[in-house]
Amino acid sequence: MKHLRNTLTAVALVGASVLPLAAHADPCKLDITGNDQMQYDKQALAAPASCKQITVTLHHAGKLPKQAMGHNWVLVNAPDLAAVAQAGMGAGLANDYVAAGDKRVLAHTKIIGGGDTTSVTFASSLLKQGGSYSFLCTFPGHNALMHGTFTLN
Ligand code: ZN
Repeated sequence: MKHLRNTLTAVALVGASVLPLAAHADPCKLDITGNDQMQYDKQALAAPASCKQITVTLHHAGKLPKQAMGHNWVLVNAPDLAAVAQAGMGAGLANDYVAAGDKRVLAHTKIIGGGDTTSVTFASSLLKQGGSYSFLCTFPGHNALMHGTFTLN
């Protein structure tokens, strides 16, 4: 019996150590990774409408500097994707390739280079449940490959 009690204690301890992992699986916190091949690892992201705030963390798994292969994560209404990419191109790296005051940009991260991580947190009230949203990288020429859909479920 003593042996069984010790086993149960061990199981309880293992259970407790799993808790930080469960917290990381918060559906309101999303991750996406870009690489040196001008690709995101995901073509779709979604968060539940029950999230008050949504955080998107962008990782750059490559090695190239942001001047050569910079990536950001920009959220827009789907029909605005091409226009926001065009406007961002003219804004330059110093402005993270996002035109100042562009109301079509719902949320965006800064531009990062290889090995870097950045994130953006925005209110889900910016979005309509079931609305059609897109995300893209506005580094010049990247949006053709680096884009995807964003859904508030
Ligand atoms: Zn990019």
